[in-house]
Amino acid sequence: GFSYYCTTSEVRERTLIAVKPDGVQRRLVGQIVQRFEKRGFKLVGLKMLKAPEDLLSQHYLNLQKKAFFPQVLCYMTSGPVVVMVWEGYNVVRSSRVMVGKTNPAEADPGTVRGDFGIHVSRNVVHASDSVEGAQREIQLWHNPGRTYTTFEDQSSLGISAR
Ligand code: UDP
Repeated sequence: GFSYYCTTSEVRERTLIAVKPDGVQRRLVGQIVQRFEKRGFKLVGLKMLKAPEDLLSQHYLNLQKKAFFPQVLCYMTSGPVVVMVWEGYNVVRSSRVMVGKTNPAEADPGTVRGDFGIHVSRNVVHASDSVEGAQREIQLWHNPGRTYTTFEDQSSLGISAR
């Protein structure tokens, strides 16, 4: 029908957004999802897991030589993360604007980090920084062939089912 002839592949752009362990612990998942839904983006994937260190090392390849990298690993494995794939026109750039600067102290009010973050080492969310980066990260986190420690394995998350 109509959409087949009139839309372009631009609207199929995808990005990887993750609510980091502090965001999950602080019950911010719903508010973050709502921001992307309100903006008109389409949720096309979501999972909750405790991220394995080797996956995080791949994810943060460019940070491996930084002095703060061990702290990043420690932070990112401190609890479950909620990893999402969002789709829509210009979603990579728009998401970076919605998420705000890496350091919450410099992030504008109205951005996720500007509204919810305090310190760079606990900055609530991740957003891919380029279309190519997004493709790489989506492949990494949403690869069905990969084995994960998932939410079902509650003992490994350090939370007890009540
Ligand atoms: N980070 C940190 N200290 C720093 C810089 C970065 O703890 O001085 C962490 C922070 O969680 C950040 C992540 O490392 O989100 C990745 O850094 P990057 O420069 O890629 O920023 P981002 O793309 O997440 O805004």
